[in-house]
Amino acid sequence: MDEWPKISDIANRVQSGELKPIDLVKKSIGIIDQKAEYRAVISSMEERAMHRATEIENRIGRGGNIGRLAGVPFIAKDNFLTLGGETTAASNILRGFRAPYQATVIERLEAEGAICIAKSNLDAFAHGSSTENSDWFTTKNPHDKSRVPGGSSGGSAAAVILNMVPFALGTDTGGSIRLPASFVGAVGVKPTYGLVSRSGVVAMASSTDVVGPLTTNVEDASLILDIIAGKDSMDSTTIEREESYLNTGDGLRGKRVGIISEYLNDGLDSGVRSVIDKAIDKIKSAGATISRVSLPNLPLSLASYYIICPAEVSSNLSRYDGQRFGYSHRDSNDLAESYELSREKGFGAEAKRRIMIGTYVLSSGYYDAYYKKAQLVRTKIINEFSEVFKNQDLLIGPTSPTVAFKIGDRVKDPLKMYLADMMTVGANMSGNPAMSIPAGNSNGLPVGLQLIGPMRGDRQMLAAAQSFEGLE
Ligand code: GLN
Repeated sequence: MDEWPKISDIANRVQSGELKPIDLVKKSIGIIDQKAEYRAVISSMEERAMHRATEIENRIGRGGNIGRLAGVPFIAKDNFLTLGGETTAASNILRGFRAPYQATVIERLEAEGAICIAKSNLDAFAHGSSTENSDWFTTKNPHDKSRVPGGSSGGSAAAVILNMVPFALGTDTGGSIRLPASFVGAVGVKPTYGLVSRSGVVAMASSTDVVGPLTTNVEDASLILDIIAGKDSMDSTTIEREESYLNTGDGLRGKRVGIISEYLNDGLDSGVRSVIDKAIDKIKSAGATISRVSLPNLPLSLASYYIICPAEVSSNLSRYDGQRFGYSHRDSNDLAESYELSREKGFGAEAKRRIMIGTYVLSSGYYDAYYKKAQLVRTKIINEFSEVFKNQDLLIGPTSPTVAFKIGDRVKDPLKMYLADMMTVGANMSGNPAMSIPAGNSNGLPVGLQLIGPMRGDRQMLAAAQSFEGLE
């Protein structure tokens, strides 16, 4: 009923005239309204969506060829600049901000006929692991309303599982696509750093920010990556793409798969552990060679991330001074006071925490002790990954040490919240492609299996995921 066919199927049926884009937009908006209690969505782009649907329908009527996403509705996390509504990054400081241009990825999806329906909830500026840091509201987990959907792309992940749209966009700076994918049972892909343009995406930590899709199956995720990947003159960190990201063959048979020992430690929940153990057995019976690998410095990822990330955040957030974007505190005696009051009132607690930590670790007295040391650790992690991948085609482990936790459980303790990302940040520090795919349930809650590929090995990682998905 509610469920969407595969994306390529929808597009083909729209192109042939069997499905009408306007009906798809209406269906999507209908489900968003019907499931409003989950609070996955911040704002609707209905007017622009209906306009685009009509335009696409007319073009098809004239015999035009629309593209690989003809009429396919999607939701973008509210840190992607989009026309036809506000872009707030779920922060009060961007309340009322209307973007003057769209993110490159949105443009690329639209060029293939996709229709952006709404903007999804996130932790403000993507700082968080649960969406509880949103200045708007907390998104609820589709499997249990008393639990978080994970974060920071929690709205996008929930929207996909609630069948609001066939796919959604997220960003992953330290795990924000993979963690919510794991918590709601979605497929979430963080491509190789630089493979997808960040132009028009609200910057968090520029050296680890990556854009990627959230879907219900691997084939759809590969198609979306195939459309958004590749060089962009608006983002100088983008890299050359491979010819295709669509899967063509068996991704597991004969492959060397390494289990990351550091991720199977005491902190791992036993229910998660048994799901992962079963997944490993399945991968083995699919013809892969399994071995244990060790990356001794990987456990230091989290500590170095929480120095490097705030350092970059403190710099990226300096542009919000109340004069150029969104909220402005006008009732001030002079410009300096206007800056101060706009930032004091506009930023939430987590953004302020990161600005303070970031400014501190970059200050002349502490730069060597913190920032420089964290960068040295980061280099070691990069080297360990490239060393391990000399003998492995793929690494696997859990996406998260636990299943979705209860709303309210970790908000008061930032360190506990930060720990949710202990298994995802490693791939952000190194830049390797990584993804989460549903592997089973523990007490009725989804558990994600994490796959990490070699640098630029996005295609082989997706092929392996698709083979895993097909296993009984
Ligand atoms: N949870 C991590 C953080 O708070 C990662 C967030 C993200 O990937 N955007 O920084």
